[in-house]
Amino acid sequence: EPQTVSILGLGAMGSALAAPLLDRGHVVTVWNRSPGRGEELVERGARRAGTVADAVHRSGLIVTCLLRYASVRETLDPVAERLRGRTLLDLTTTTPAEARALGAWAEEHGIEYLNGAILATPPMIGAPGAQLFVSGSAEVLARTRTVLEAWAEIVYDGADPGAASLIDLAMLAAMYQMFAGLFHGAAMAATAGMRATDFAARAVPFVTAMVPHFAGDAEIVDGGDYSVPGQQSLHFSDLSDIIRASDEAGANSSTIRAVQALIAEQVDLGFGDDGMARIYESLRRPHAGR
Ligand code: NDP
Repeated sequence: EPQTVSILGLGAMGSALAAPLLDRGHVVTVWNRSPGRGEELVERGARRAGTVADAVHRSGLIVTCLLRYASVRETLDPVAERLRGRTLLDLTTTTPAEARALGAWAEEHGIEYLNGAILATPPMIGAPGAQLFVSGSAEVLARTRTVLEAWAEIVYDGADPGAASLIDLAMLAAMYQMFAGLFHGAAMAATAGMRATDFAARAVPFVTAMVPHFAGDAEIVDGGDYSVPGQQSLHFSDLSDIIRASDEAGANSSTIRAVQALIAEQVDLGFGDDGMARIYESLRRPHAGR
């Protein structure tokens, strides 16, 4: 059945969130700090709120999709009392600590609260492949789920409001480091005259074939026994040849040196016969600062 939803923030993402709600017949109110945004949404039936207070007043579910945590607090602090008894879903990219701080603020003001992290670009919203990580009250999610499902596949990350953000940023950390590795490889190959596109044509199938092996390494991490047979040992994983080749080529070896430092730390601790998965032990703690 139709619900009342207010979207605060009509940037690229906020606008993309409003459209599928209108398509599903929800009663959508939109607000943006500066004028001129969201005309097409109003033409499609969204109601425009002149003030944040008006937007909050009109809906049971208030969705914020602003720039960063400070923008969310700047926008919501003045209407905290008006939000009492309503549901707030913050989809702004924030750190886990900020998501928890907003949770504490919401609790203090009697506001039902969920935090979400969008794993999609604006054109992907409402299309297959889009994911929305949600954390906070399971009961609040159960009540709002049908609305949220208009945007993406919902993945619930538990009651800690910071969890969705944490998992989102963890996945982005993995992705960016993988891409940095690919760029480094391209920079090495370029010194032999290879174009980046040719390197990509060779590297993408190789890396694609390797990535699924991470699931096996993850089983070793969870099992806690890094000596299980069949792994490539840390001794064997010594990366000095790669570092020398990169240095000889005149490319920047800083990314691969960072990986080598993790391997070296575990070898120095006496674990050279264990598998590559053992570097997880160096990554799960703060940097030793060597
Ligand atoms: P845009 O830059 O397109 O829009 C930013 C929005 O935030 C605008 O509506 C802007 O209003 C508003 N805003 C900025 N500062 C304030 C403030 N102090 N008070 C009130 N409103 C403010 O960004 P996106 O829509 O792309 O992104 C929004 C959020 O969604 C970000 O946190 C982003 O990380 C996240 N996200 C975006 C993805 C994407 O692919 N675009 C993917 C996943 C998450 P105004 O028009 O007045 O400037």
